[in-house]
Amino acid sequence: MVAGNWKMNFDHLEATAFVREFSRNLKKSHFDFNQCEVVLFPSFTSIRSVQVIVESERLKIKYGAQAVSVTSQGAFTGDVSADMIARLGCSYVIVGHSERRKYHPEDDANIVDQVRAVMAAGMQPILCVGESLEERRKGIELEFAVGQVHDVTRDLSDEEAAKLIIAYEPVWAIGTGMVATPQTAQDAAHAFREDLANTFDDHVANTVRVLYGGSVSSKNCVELIEEPDVDGFLIGGAALDVDELTSICRKQ
Ligand code: 13P
Repeated sequence: MVAGNWKMNFDHLEATAFVREFSRNLKKSHFDFNQCEVVLFPSFTSIRSVQVIVESERLKIKYGAQAVSVTSQGAFTGDVSADMIARLGCSYVIVGHSERRKYHPEDDANIVDQVRAVMAAGMQPILCVGESLEERRKGIELEFAVGQVHDVTRDLSDEEAAKLIIAYEPVWAIGTGMVATPQTAQDAAHAFREDLANTFDDHVANTVRVLYGGSVSSKNCVELIEEPDVDGFLIGGAALDVDELTSICRKQ
């Protein structure tokens, strides 16, 4: 999976123009969507516009939302429910991105509720985890990231857990140009699967897709995807450049 998290970039006109050019690029290179899923995460204000293009032009690009409310409806000014997002044809929702954890009151309990809300609405959550430089300096990076996965997944049923996608996004690698080494990404992805196998079973551990995120580019994506436990990418900056994102997709 190649997933582009646009964060708070692109208005609906820019999003529309991007999707048109991106899909033209992929078509030109005979991109095989059966080999690699391609997912875009626009802002809430652009999702409907992306839906209209994807449906009217029958594109195979999927899309999703960057966050979700834990409640289904009511007096929650500014929130957007999972059902509203699902009604726009979204397949995935990013949950617990480190920027959300930092700038919004999202703790593990809230993130578990988001995961459940997303699944109840028939979509799949992409759960983001990853240590900061502080944990890495202390040498507890794996323990920390696995702990984040464990705290969110432990109360899920086997069936729910199997629908999860995990994105390992070390905070120090996001937007810094300091990409994790392939071995670091592999070690984290492998440790997540071990934890899932212990909490659930081997089927869950092997079904869950693990993405890497943090300064991914067309230059470093090949060696990262060669790692056995890395199933794809969650991309920020490079997903804002249509040629760069096309090039990453072509290299999968
Ligand atoms: P960058 O690719 O810009 O480092 O961002 C990664 C990210 O946060 C994706 O969710």
